[in-house]
Amino acid sequence: MKAIIDDIYSLYYSLGITEPYEIDLEAIAYFKGAEVKYEPLTGCEARIIGYDDRAIITLNKESIPERQKFSLGHEIGHWLKDRGRIGNLCSKSEINEKFEDNPSGGKHAHRENIANNYASELLMPYFLIDRAVKGSRLNFDLLRTISAKFGTSLIATAFRIIRLENHVGFLAAYDQSCQRKWFIPNKNLPYSFLPPRVAPAESGIARIIKANITSMFNDKVDGSVWCKDSWADHSSVHEEAIHYHNGTYLTLVWWEDEEPVWESICHKEGIE
Ligand SMILES: [Zn+2]
Repeated sequence: MKAIIDDIYSLYYSLGITEPYEIDLEAIAYFKGAEVKYEPLTGCEARIIGYDDRAIITLNKESIPERQKFSLGHEIGHWLKDRGRIGNLCSKSEINEKFEDNPSGGKHAHRENIANNYASELLMPYFLIDRAVKGSRLNFDLLRTISAKFGTSLIATAFRIIRLENHVGFLAAYDQSCQRKWFIPNKNLPYSFLPPRVAPAESGIARIIKANITSMFNDKVDGSVWCKDSWADHSSVHEEAIHYHNGTYLTLVWWEDEEPVWESICHKEGIE
């Protein structure tokens, strides 16, 4: 990841990009010898065909703009990494804003993951995003502000911000039966602090799911609600939960007081 951050930083430095609105992926693709086309695609979300120093990237015309943008970042990623001879069809599941493991596994999945990391970095480069979120509170307001600023989807934005490690917490999605669908955790979050398969009864998200309301929950809850062990019994944690769409609910859990998390990590590592 560090290599990708450096790669994009030097690219943007050479292009004189210093603000999010100056990021024009189509122009960047062009600058790198890749032409971008929009066509209705079936069976894949985007594709790239390249030879020597020229390439053609085709994006699915039917997809929403944020999706197209992420796909374009993904294909530019393939091009920057495997420039020369390339022919790739990338499916919806491979161009993954949530960075879920690719079911195919192996070398191919690895390449797809790298392309996703490129997409994330091209859309929200470290040197701009870190500055934009430093000292902020982790909530949906922040995600919406940043996603508007960078023109990225809420999920891609959440992924980038949570992986920055300025905040300790996670974003998790649950369905109408309180079953977890996916989650994006902070890398340092210990097992006890990861969102359980079933939303805890006392959590904000379980409350809005059970009440069958489309309003939101935004409050502090007892730390023990989002910790499987006793580390957070005497603390509290921020939780903001919303109905996202079509029976999918999102909860954003943020340990502003990081003490319980660090205590548990230190204990595990044998540090008093
Ligand atoms: Zn791909």
